[in-house]
Amino acid sequence: MDKKFIYFFGEGQAEGDASDEMIRLLGNKGAQLQGMTKIGLPVPPGFTITTDVCDYYFEHDGQLPEGLVEQVRANISRLEQVTGYRFVDIEQDPLLVSARSGAAVSMPGMMETILNIGLSDKCVDAYIERHGNKEQPKKFILDCQRRLYEMFGQNVYGIEREKFRKIFDGFKEEAGIQEETLLTSSHLQTIVTKYKQLYKENGKELPQDPLQQLTDAVKAVEESAMGEKARNYRKAEGLPEKVGTGVNIQTMVYGNENITDCGTGVGFTRDPSTGINNRQNPYGEFLLGGQGEDVVSGSRNVFSISHMKQSVPQAYDELMKVCDILEQRIKRVQDYEFTVWRGKLYMLQTRNGKLTGRANVRSSHDMVREGLIDVRDAVLRVVPENFEQLLHKMIDYEAMKCDGVQLDEVVINRGGAGVAASPGGGVGKAVFDVKTALEYKERGEPVILCRLETNPADYPGMIVSEAIATARGGKTSHAAVVARNKGIPCVVGTGVDIDEESKRITYQNNKDETVTINEGDYISVDGSAGRILNYKASLTEPSPDDPDLQDFLQLLYPIAKMRVYANANDSGEAARALQFGAEGIGLARTEYMFLEDKLEGENRQLAIQSWILAEEEEVVKLKALERLEQMQKRDFLEMYSVMQDKPIIIRLLDYPLHELLSGAKAHLDELSEATKLNQEHLKQRIDGYHETNPMLGHRSVRLGITHPEIYRVQVRAILSAAEEFNNSTDKKYLTPHIEIPLVCLVNEVKNMEQLVGEEAEKLGFSRGGYSSKGDNRYLLGIMYELSGASFEADSLAQVSDFGSFGTNDLTQTTMGWSREDGSATFMPRYVGQGIVGEDPFITIDKDGPVAKAMAHAVLLARAAKPDYEFGICGEHAADPASLEVCYGVGLSNVSPAPNQVPIAWLRSAQLSLTKEYGNMLNEYAVKASTSFSKSIGK
Ligand code: ADP
Ligand code: MG
Ligand code: MG
Repeated sequence: MDKKFIYFFGEGQAEGDASDEMIRLLGNKGAQLQGMTKIGLPVPPGFTITTDVCDYYFEHDGQLPEGLVEQVRANISRLEQVTGYRFVDIEQDPLLVSARSGAAVSMPGMMETILNIGLSDKCVDAYIERHGNKEQPKKFILDCQRRLYEMFGQNVYGIEREKFRKIFDGFKEEAGIQEETLLTSSHLQTIVTKYKQLYKENGKELPQDPLQQLTDAVKAVEESAMGEKARNYRKAEGLPEKVGTGVNIQTMVYGNENITDCGTGVGFTRDPSTGINNRQNPYGEFLLGGQGEDVVSGSRNVFSISHMKQSVPQAYDELMKVCDILEQRIKRVQDYEFTVWRGKLYMLQTRNGKLTGRANVRSSHDMVREGLIDVRDAVLRVVPENFEQLLHKMIDYEAMKCDGVQLDEVVINRGGAGVAASPGGGVGKAVFDVKTALEYKERGEPVILCRLETNPADYPGMIVSEAIATARGGKTSHAAVVARNKGIPCVVGTGVDIDEESKRITYQNNKDETVTINEGDYISVDGSAGRILNYKASLTEPSPDDPDLQDFLQLLYPIAKMRVYANANDSGEAARALQFGAEGIGLARTEYMFLEDKLEGENRQLAIQSWILAEEEEVVKLKALERLEQMQKRDFLEMYSVMQDKPIIIRLLDYPLHELLSGAKAHLDELSEATKLNQEHLKQRIDGYHETNPMLGHRSVRLGITHPEIYRVQVRAILSAAEEFNNSTDKKYLTPHIEIPLVCLVNEVKNMEQLVGEEAEKLGFSRGGYSSKGDNRYLLGIMYELSGASFEADSLAQVSDFGSFGTNDLTQTTMGWSREDGSATFMPRYVGQGIVGEDPFITIDKDGPVAKAMAHAVLLARAAKPDYEFGICGEHAADPASLEVCYGVGLSNVSPAPNQVPIAWLRSAQLSLTKEYGNMLNEYAVKASTSFSKSIGK
């Protein structure tokens, strides 16, 4: 027997089904038609030619395999039997079919469907005669005929669509008719005659043998799968070069027979933009008297599906039932097509609907509530990008389309340059410096700060911007890091000519014209897609306590083994972190407390700078510190009142002194008054703090050891604020977590233990976790940011209560690469040549040295103290791939920026469902111990 090339479906029987295997063999459309038939849904009978035939066609230079035509014939006979209609019939209504392509993956550019195949001219005449030359049936059959001529001409003979359109529209205009349905049979007859003329001009003729029409159509489908359009699409989408299509031959049902109980429609089982399942007003459209793609072509007025309740109530009820059945079987939101013929419903297609992020989150959760899927399915089908739409304002591209603006016309960074550095969309006036940004903002005008790249001096301008755009830099550039922490949309590395001097942007548009954007012109930034637009876009609004997001988070909390904290430096950020579901603060940086005023006139910078610079005057120094202590205590109290008894990890001063002095030269007169030193001398002193390699210099714990008074001030502020907070509440005992940055040696920690211990004792705090007596407690932790600390982790754990990885510095010190200099110089080459898979400052390589440094530290520390808690703070804590490493080494918690907390929950929950917690520790331990044993000969 010949190979089976064809799978039949009809009357409740189907040779195929909707399994994955069948989707590969028959294409998605075919497999779904088979599947729907099999479960008894009303599908017009037909058959599917396998994708193998398509493969054969290409391997054999446009030949159909032997035996195929016979199998087609046999299946046509079977169709004739099942339907009672016959091909080439002039005695009664003939069998007509459609030829529809459909591969396993959707592929735009493949052949369009041909409807009404089998309708010969003779059939048309006979039909008209049989129906007594009455207008309505005559009109109907001629409408079918003109459609066949159009679709066959375009798809088989390649005659341009435009030519048919011109004839059709031209005639409508000539006859003074607006609505297509008002064309009379004689109008249609004229149109068909003109079409025949057009065929002739192209040296073609419509085959009058239905089987010939059918084979020509099948070949045209096979051909289109390898056509230029489909090929380019596959290339662009990274699909295999050859993807075969299936061909579906299906009995026609006629939505165009009349405008009372016939029509065609498309719909979704749930709203694809919100995910809501509205049974009163289902999502979709219906067109009485329409065929094929009339609904979606936009050429005719359509009605919402709910209107079917009046015109075709039975079909409507059945459609609603079908929607339920489809979702129960497939368990995904379905995008479907149907036709109603003589009041009866026929399903023509179903596939998984393309959903917005919100719709995917909402519908997945609703399906859990409805018992369609379980929590696990729901959690695994949401991807991190889905959340982004719920967490940020986004550019409203739909609205832009409605305004008739094409994306390509307005993108400034064309050609794919531009790194999506911080998600969300922003709209504002282009400004090029901090001063102007602040002036505009003062007047209440939204701004977008455009810079070549940013540095700490740009900070005040950055945080008032709706979005930030830079010409240079990567995902970990200053602009990107600040933007993500503040939740400001940002695009970097756009390569756009941003001229800070003359305050303008120039670029080539898609017509190769040079366009200039001046200061004050409106632009938009899409930080999720990495674009700058020369356009004032509108934005879709996220709500801070979006119910879809909040509800979904409830599913994640009980599953996630690795818990999620957030980085927050003040009470505002802490409140946001809580809103997004953070269970604690994994890192509160205290640097800002020295530099940024909370209340007017505090002048914290002056205080810290005069403390650093003053020489003899001990009184001056102490006074400055005293003031800072009071201010910081107030800052901590504010944060505590937000966090209540949730853990809050406060890191002592990490900056080198010279960074605290940045900007000092701008107010030398004040400093001089405070320190009683002359300005020249002050300048020299400021310069004296310069370091050649500050990263490895006088900062962090080293500063705490050389200048203990500054750390003591911080410890006192932290503890006395906690004391005050605890006294003011009944049961909530807050235990501050004090954290020492950049330690490497046990002796450093011992020194700190003593310093902190002394201050604590004075305030009546004792070390250790919560106590039932309710006395005041504190914990002392350290940061693991040096690979040296990983080697020492067992002894470091002995002297500390918890640890936290700072993987940015850990990457710098483990690999010896500078983030800033690396990304500007060798990194692109390293990534390009595959020396590293990804920039390690963006993604921790799970097989790379940083992951090993982490595993090593966790193993040693937990050998010493089994319950030792480890976290991670910083950029990597929001990167989906790096989170896999965090989970793999069994971190207790991760701490990203507040906006990114939900994404971390999602990844943690997904990993908890699919991978063993701490799996990388086992692997690393086994590997390491095997190697060690080997080398000492055991
Ligand atoms: P696409 O893949 O572009 O969606 P389809 O194969 O689904 O193309 O067909 C195009 C249009 O023709 C759709 O509206 C479809 O519902 C309609 N159609 C296809 N086959 C038939 C048929 N046998 N009877 C009635 N309408 C049909
Ligand atoms: Mg189409
Ligand atoms: Mg379709």
